[in-house]
Amino acid sequence: MDKTFSLQGFGSAAIHAGHQQDPQYAHQTPIYASSTYVFDTAEQGMKRFSGQEEGFIYSRWGNPTLAEAERKIAALETFGLDTEVKGILHASGMAAISTLLFSNLKAGDKVLSHFSLYGGSNEILYKVLPEFNVMPVITDLRKLDKVEDIIKKDRSIRLMYLETPANPTIQCVDIEELSKIAKRYKLIVACDNTFATPYLQQPFKYDVDFVVHSTTKFLNGHGTAIGGILLGKDIEFMKTRGTKVHRLLGGNSNGFDAFLVIQGIKTLEIRMDRHCSNAVAVAHFLEQHTEVAKVNYSGLPSHPDHAVAKKQMRHPGAMLSFELKGGLQAGINFMNRLQMCVRTVSLGTVDTLLSHPASMTHYSVPKEQREQYGITDGLIRMNVGIENVQDILADLEQALNG
Ligand code: PLP
Repeated sequence: MDKTFSLQGFGSAAIHAGHQQDPQYAHQTPIYASSTYVFDTAEQGMKRFSGQEEGFIYSRWGNPTLAEAERKIAALETFGLDTEVKGILHASGMAAISTLLFSNLKAGDKVLSHFSLYGGSNEILYKVLPEFNVMPVITDLRKLDKVEDIIKKDRSIRLMYLETPANPTIQCVDIEELSKIAKRYKLIVACDNTFATPYLQQPFKYDVDFVVHSTTKFLNGHGTAIGGILLGKDIEFMKTRGTKVHRLLGGNSNGFDAFLVIQGIKTLEIRMDRHCSNAVAVAHFLEQHTEVAKVNYSGLPSHPDHAVAKKQMRHPGAMLSFELKGGLQAGINFMNRLQMCVRTVSLGTVDTLLSHPASMTHYSVPKEQREQYGITDGLIRMNVGIENVQDILADLEQALNG
């Protein structure tokens, strides 16, 4: 039985939602490691292929472990809302984003988005889609009047792509207002909810059509698997066009990774509460430190998008970035001095992770170009983990003080 709808608390849903009794009575849904599924008879095969009978056929199309993860994340993205969505689990966040874009766009369409996005999403909009004559229109989505003006003047814009909070300056865009504008012009709205997770923010509340996640991050929570999910409100679309494009692009997940994300999600609420309270303490600590020029954390009143974050998020989250006064070399020195906190580029794990975009992810991006996006020489991005906060602060203190 799927217990989702009788539960009152998000944390309970994170544990129980989407689970169905295993036919062999295993407590946990097993890792289905089978590429294909058998038919009792040719007639049964015919019924499965024609859709007359529910059931699995081939693991690129889905399997019981993947299905549980899909039901669980769909239940959390709509928890407490009067909306039903269908999820399709993918091999990565980028695979989910690719299915979203390739299932909704055709040559001649344009995608409207914000200038500060995850690098991979940026590249697919700037480099891959233009080869199929789907062009990006990139603006500052925080300037709502300008957004409406752009859409009014360019009726080939078909999809509005949001990511909030966004990499690495933690900019937030107003999902409700942007979705309202988009709907006035019949645009499709999609939102990348990776940084927030459904515990902190539910874009479907604001009538968006699609939500995507890199489940690699907070949903998995432990850095053990790459994964992604596309969730859509138009169930018919998700069962037909969305499913077809997902199957044909071939970005399917697998039983092991789905199992890991299911287990990770069960502790999402308590992990996020600790991530968030630690992030607040870290932001305040950094804000008063003499080596730090600026802290980008939407939980601080000094952040330009503080009000938007407050409006649409339960809590501003666990991601922040800060600028060191000493520039590039100070960034490198700081990173080298870290002891407990980890030097790496991902996010969403229980341990605290830090990266230095100028010497790592954005090393090959010309300085003038990256600075336009707020990626200065001394910028450090931080995923605040769930360790005891005094250990995080002590490590930062010693690394900052040299
Ligand atoms: N969206 C955001 C906000 C991300 O940070 C990332 C990866 O860092 C992705 C999407 C892509 O996810 P994946 O690496 O799982 O393909």
